[in-house]
Amino acid sequence: MGTRSCGHICGESSPGIGEAGITGDWRDSRPVIDLDKCTPSKKNKPSCFQCWLYCPEAVISKTIPVEINLEYCKGCGICAQVCPTHAITMVAEQGRGSA
Ligand code: SF4
Ligand code: SF4
Repeated sequence: MGTRSCGHICGESSPGIGEAGITGDWRDSRPVIDLDKCTPSKKNKPSCFQCWLYCPEAVISKTIPVEINLEYCKGCGICAQVCPTHAITMVAEQGRGSA
């Protein structure tokens, strides 16, 4: 049971940000949003937000523009996969994956 930012009490659990501390530092790729392709920014309307809905870490904002909290993003790439306009690209983190 949790309370959403909209004030509604929901029966399902919600992911929380950073309960285990900052977790994004081991990520090997990061999502980068092209706001020219992102529907809320393009239309200046609160629409789409599929990335917000499907991010398992709840680190994407439902705002204009959409923002991602990279301190907690794990780099799973789900947001890039669900984005209907292909506005999100996964970019390799510098210096990762070579150890
Ligand atoms: S899913 Fe894509 S188009 Fe929709 S809000 Fe997220 S980044 Fe923008
Ligand atoms: S890469 Fe995964 S954890 Fe990071 S913002 Fe996208 S869906 Fe969320």
